[in-house]
Amino acid sequence: VDGPAQGNAAVVPANKPTVGNAAVVPADKPTVGNAAVVPADKPHRDETSDARRTDAHRAGTSDRADPPGPADPPDRLRASLRGVRAFLLDMDGVVVLRGAPLPGAGTAIASLAARGIPFRFLTNSSLYSREALARRLSGAGIPVGAADIVTALSASAALAARRWPEGALYVLGAPEALVEFAGQRLLSDDEASEAAREGSQAGEVAAVIVADAGSGFTFERLNTAFRLVRGGARLVAVHRNRWWLTREGATLDSGAFVRAIEYASGRRALLVGKPADSFFRTALATVGVPGELGLRDVMMVGDDLQSDIAAARRAGMRAAFVLSGKHGASDLAAARRRGGLLPDLVAPSLSEIVAALD
Ligand SMILES: [Mg+2]
Repeated sequence: VDGPAQGNAAVVPANKPTVGNAAVVPADKPTVGNAAVVPADKPHRDETSDARRTDAHRAGTSDRADPPGPADPPDRLRASLRGVRAFLLDMDGVVVLRGAPLPGAGTAIASLAARGIPFRFLTNSSLYSREALARRLSGAGIPVGAADIVTALSASAALAARRWPEGALYVLGAPEALVEFAGQRLLSDDEASEAAREGSQAGEVAAVIVADAGSGFTFERLNTAFRLVRGGARLVAVHRNRWWLTREGATLDSGAFVRAIEYASGRRALLVGKPADSFFRTALATVGVPGELGLRDVMMVGDDLQSDIAAARRAGMRAAFVLSGKHGASDLAAARRRGGLLPDLVAPSLSEIVAALD
């Protein structure tokens, strides 16, 4: 694939995202999307030292250092899938990888839809709105609508609307993605800065929300965010990913900026995206299934053993590990040794899972 010129789809938006004012008005186009079929989902980096070692080992190498591991045979897949009535699907490493669709992903999704099996995508990605993601996936032959997607950003917007319906929000994020906050009161940089000034009469700011802002994470914005949090605004982390792999190598992610504000303010951020339990439950609540849906009737499919597999198991769901993404057989072996929560099944890719459904 002649990949994205800028690396993995909008690693750092080519143009400085303007945060705040631009809010409800999307930039005419996602800045770097041109070459990428779909933006790469953000690989989640969890906070464990094991994960850190794995990541460090992987940094600067290909995103798939391990050979494909031994997947379950079809009979076992079929048995493990018995009783599954709905799916939650991670995006990157499950249907796309480094901005390109994975082989068979489009067919697998079309087959789920044709058979009336409900599914939702569940992704930490927050550089793009759901509409933009759906457009890109569909353009790449993966038939997905915006309503099929729950992102850490859309969940953050929903949370803010619920908790602070009238409250002013200061959101650090890419302009296009801020359409998710349509109808909410977003502060421009100037307004936020004014509200953050000592002795300001500008009124209270309900929350500071840290999403993916790339090069928009300037000192001024971070300092404004810090002052607001110090002054009592709630700090919300869309996700806490530390860094991610792009074509250029390891790239600083928004979790590092969340930490900076936490460190300076002494306040702990509220986490919205994976691996938070509530994120899984939010997605599940949008899956239309007739009758009662038990947690064990739901299968999360993902390529990340921590943020997809262990997190889904912790939330009470079943979990299917696919070998089409960033984690492989040796990561699974390491998870076994650690005694972590393990997948209910292991498959080469989503295709085999859908094919094994009764
Ligand atoms: Mg993934």
